[in-house]
Amino acid sequence: MGRRPQQQKTFADLVREVETRVPDAPAALAPGLHGDEEFVDQAGRRYRLTAPSVDQPTAQRAAAGGAVVVWDPCGCGGYCGYEWLDPAQVRHLSSALPQVRNTKRHRGCIALYTDEAGGELLLVEGSVIWGSTIA
Ligand SMILES: [Zn+2]
Repeated sequence: MGRRPQQQKTFADLVREVETRVPDAPAALAPGLHGDEEFVDQAGRRYRLTAPSVDQPTAQRAAAGGAVVVWDPCGCGGYCGYEWLDPAQVRHLSSALPQVRNTKRHRGCIALYTDEAGGELLLVEGSVIWGSTIA
């Protein structure tokens, strides 16, 4: 890279450049799990892990309350992608109790994340059957 004949950039210039490059994601965090305790949804909202494993009524209550529901069918931690349920699918879930299997061969889990405004996110992993959407 050669020296370019221009004025030194100010901090404000740099910020403007960054904002121009990623207009949709000012927080610059990709949707999904970050570390062990933070989950980012598709709107860029950040949630903290509240409970690594919740019981079925708690999961159902969160769905009824309009939680964001993310499904990791194979339980690999999202390496092959998450399924993001739409609000209609989440409403559907709230009419049924999830069935979580936990055996030697099948491991299911529902984790609860919460954001600063009290919004909830459920991460459904592995061997869980829930209504007709998660099956
Ligand atoms: Zn996977």
